[in-house]
Order: sequence, then structure tokens, then C-alpha cells
Amino acid sequence: MLNFDYYNPTHIVFGKGRIAQLDTLLSKDARVLVLYGGSSAQKTGTLDEVRKALGDRTYFEFGGIEPNPSYETLMKAVEQVKQEKVDFLLAVGGGSVIDGTKFVAAAVPYEGEPWEILETDGKKIKEALPVGTVLTLPATGSEMNRNSVVTRKSIKSKRGFHNDHVFPVFSILDPTKVYTLPPRQLANGVVDSFIHITEQYLTYPVDGMVQDEFAEGLLRTLIKIGPELLKDQKNYDLAANFMWTATLALNGLIGAGVPQDWATHMVGHELTAAFGIDHGRTLAIILPSLLQNQREAKKGKLLQYAKNVWHIDQGSDDERIDAAIEKTRHFFESLGIPTHLKDYDVGEESIDMLVKELEAHGMSQLGEHKAITPEVSRAILLASL
Ligand code: NAP
Ligand code: FE
Repeated sequence: MLNFDYYNPTHIVFGKGRIAQLDTLLSKDARVLVLYGGSSAQKTGTLDEVRKALGDRTYFEFGGIEPNPSYETLMKAVEQVKQEKVDFLLAVGGGSVIDGTKFVAAAVPYEGEPWEILETDGKKIKEALPVGTVLTLPATGSEMNRNSVVTRKSIKSKRGFHNDHVFPVFSILDPTKVYTLPPRQLANGVVDSFIHITEQYLTYPVDGMVQDEFAEGLLRTLIKIGPELLKDQKNYDLAANFMWTATLALNGLIGAGVPQDWATHMVGHELTAAFGIDHGRTLAIILPSLLQNQREAKKGKLLQYAKNVWHIDQGSDDERIDAAIEKTRHFFESLGIPTHLKDYDVGEESIDMLVKELEAHGMSQLGEHKAITPEVSRAILLASL
């Protein structure tokens, strides 16, 4: 196992009706900015629940954070925070609202042009406003991690940053929020959390037995409950298990002490920035061809994945690896997610541009072995057509 530090300060408040707890989680004299997305928080009644729980505290609202939150929109929230002298940020939404709120939290006290935060992976952040979250879409794990991804529309650039200062102080996870999700977002969430796990598990070689058992259990849970939840979305136990799996997939636990890949995410970000394809869908396109491309480097782990996650025992090593990759692709497609670039009207003529963007963003040595050079990314993209 590799050396590691594990730190996670987020207080999780899990269960039905827990939004009312905001009253005890926030001080009476907090000046709160509630940040949310488009219309879903309003329509589903979540925003009303939050307003009620805030009671007579001083609070302001900032709506309109879009999926794949934009720097341009978030800088307007930064202005509002400064004007109203807000001292607590409450994100009500999915990964986009939570990521966007983390950026605002770091950008308010930042000395310099805040886009630098994205260009320097958050390394220069010295402080941030405290953030709390009310999660409405299980997928990203942002509710319990130190990551954020922001898009600068004017230059079509989607970049991430990481910093301990943006860990949420608390996150309220009410599984009934899953009931109102459009099936497409539910499916995206299953795939995103699945691939958060594979980014930390399908790496080789390190003997992280505990991490592997955790990861395999989470993957098997998603394989079982993903399709069931799509058919029976208001099943509380399924929704609760999905919500907690998505959080555990990316709260640092399964990635501690093992190598991490993240190449699928980095190539996927370019697809979202260039073509606006949903985050989860970009990952479903890239992962199967990345695994094929890296099958020698990841051989031992792919065989373990075939056996422990997909229960494949028959055939030669190559046949078992092929079967595991095929089952993975079929799982995504069974959730209604197409897995080829052509399904999204992206053709071979776009590959050069995508590879250039990866290089321009410093993504030239991806994967746990830093072996995914721009030429390897090109091969993976061509195989994803
Ligand atoms: P999202 O972009 O936050 O939300 C997608 C859509 O779902 C929005 O249109 C939203 O509508 C709707 N929605 C959310 N909750 C709903 C509910 N309960 N009922 C009905 N509709 C609801 O989706 P996401 O997948 O959670 O976040 C994706 C972003 O997170 C991407 O930018 C991705 O790159 C990033 N990401 C971050 C991490 C991380 O570790 N921080 C990891 C992976 C990905 P409204 O806008 O109307 O509210
Ligand atoms: Fe993701």
C-alpha cells in the first residue's frame, strides 16, 4: 500500500426530512447565501424546505448556476457575496451547484484573478468561506470531497481544482430528493459514481486489499440497484443506497493508499467543454476503449474486476478481460446511455482538436502510470467513435 493522509471533515446528515436540521447546523447570526441551479429546486419544493429551516436568519439567494457551472455565472455570485457581506454559502443542488459554490467560496477571499484557482489546481488557495450543502443529485461525491470543476465558456475550458479549504462543513443527504430526478440524470449519476470507483480501483499494481473490497462492493451495489432504481424511482431504500454509494465513491476513502487513474475524466472533460455532452455520458464513451487500450498495464486488476465484480470465471485471460469490458459497456447502455461518439454526432474530424485541447490543458501524461500521452489519448478517442 502507498503512504497516505486521510482527512475528511464533512459532517453528513443523512435521511428523510433532515433539511430541517439546518436550524441547528447554522448559527443564528449567520449571513447566508443560498445558491441553486435552474428551476428544479424551486419546482420540487426543496428550496421552500430550505427557506423554512433558515427561519428568520438573514439570507440571500443566487439562482441560475447551470449544469457544468460557468466561471462567468459564478463571478456574479462572488460579487453578491461581497456586496451583502455574506459569511456562509449554502449550496442546494447537484454537483454543478456544489462545485460552483466551492469555487465562489475560494474566489471571494482570493488575491488575484480567480481563474488562476483553476489554472493552478487550487494550490494557491489560502482560505475559503464555509460551505454547507443540501444534495439533490447523487453522482459526483462533491458533497463530501475537496474537488470542484468549473467551465470558462468564453475559452471553452473545463478545469478542476482541489483544496482542503473547500470541503463542505456539512452535507444534508435526503434520499427522497432522488424521486424527482429526470431518468437521464439518474442514469448519469449511476455512471459517474461507477466511474469514480473504477478510476481508483482499476489501477495496477498495488495491494490495497481493504480498498479493493470496498470498491468491489460499491460497484456491485451500483450494478444491482441502478437498473432497479430506474424502474422504481420512489423506492426509499434503493434511493438511500444509491445516495450513500455515490458519496462513498468519491470521499477519499477508497482512493487512499492506492494509485489513481482519472484519465477517463480528463478526456471526458474535453468532450463536455467542446460539445456540451453530459459529464456521466462522456465517461461512458471513454472508459470501455480506455480499458481496452490499457489492458496490458491493468491486466491483473482487470482479471480481478472480471471475477469479483462481474463473476466471470470461464475462458482465457484475454477472453475474461474482453467479457468484463463488454459487460461494463452493456451496463451503461442498459441504463439508456449510448457509449460511442457517433451517438452524439461527434466524428473523426474532431479528434485532432480534442487532442490539442488536452495538450493545451497540460493533460499529456495521464493515468496511474502517466503513460497516456496525447497519442494514446488519440487512439482511445478513435476507438470510441
Ligand atoms: P448537475 O449538473 O448538478 O445537475 C444536472 C441536472 O439535474 C440539472 O439540470 C438540475 O436541474 C437537475 N436536478 C438536480 N437535482 C434534481 C432533482 N432532485 N430533481 C430534478 N432535477 C434535478 O449534475 P451532476 O451530475 O450532479 O453534476 C455534474 C457536474 O459535476 C459536472 O460539471 C462534473 O464535471 C462535476 N463533477 C464534480 C466532481 C467532484 O468531485 N466535485 C466529480 C465528478 C463530476 P436545475 O439546474 O434546474 O436544478
Ligand atoms: Fe465525475
